[in-house]
Amino acid sequence: MALDWRVCSRARLSRDPRFDGKFFIGVRGSMVYCRPICPAPTAKEKNCRYFATAAAASEAGYRPCLRCRPECSPGTPAWQGTSNTVARALRLIGESGLEEGGVELLAERLGVGSRHLRRLFLKHLGATPSAVANTRRLHFAKKLIDETTLPMAYVAQASGFGSVRRFNAAIQNTYHRPPSQIRRLTRQTASLPENQYLFRLRFRLRLGRLFFRLLLCR
Ligand SMILES: [Zn+2]
Repeated sequence: MALDWRVCSRARLSRDPRFDGKFFIGVRGSMVYCRPICPAPTAKEKNCRYFATAAAASEAGYRPCLRCRPECSPGTPAWQGTSNTVARALRLIGESGLEEGGVELLAERLGVGSRHLRRLFLKHLGATPSAVANTRRLHFAKKLIDETTLPMAYVAQASGFGSVRRFNAAIQNTYHRPPSQIRRLTRQTASLPENQYLFRLRFRLRLGRLFFRLLLCR
């Protein structure tokens, strides 16, 4: 799987939305990976590395950008089955992650050897099946942190981390912040539509004076 860096570079510098989801940019130094549409100042070409998938960027040691949120990028075409086996594997990973048996069981369900499956993944996605499953789980968790008010224990469970401790460790390790801080950060930076704010004000008024006071204090 080869990316033409000149095409990627042009798309990156012009923040071309047509390329969103088609590749990711790893920035050396910050070790963050971004979507082509990232609003952050563009990095120098010599500091950029291009990846076909988020999992490949993650496997190379980059972490998702908190501004452009790679977990929200549209599906990567490279993932849509240049190899039928890879497409089926991605569907299974999407449904239930990598189950107990890991890559071995996944390969068995697909009727191929696990080494062959790893080779196919590396060729088409630039990342191993485990890296793809881990990135998917992490991205799903990040979306739940940002876009819901679910308690973190539920987020950990729903995104398949098995335990809150593992979830906390994974988020801390990736974002260098605990989940609660990420949620606060997203709330602060999200530009809420005016109507949403109005709605919240009315909603809280109905709940009583205490909430109203809290709101005024913010
Ligand atoms: Zn970014």
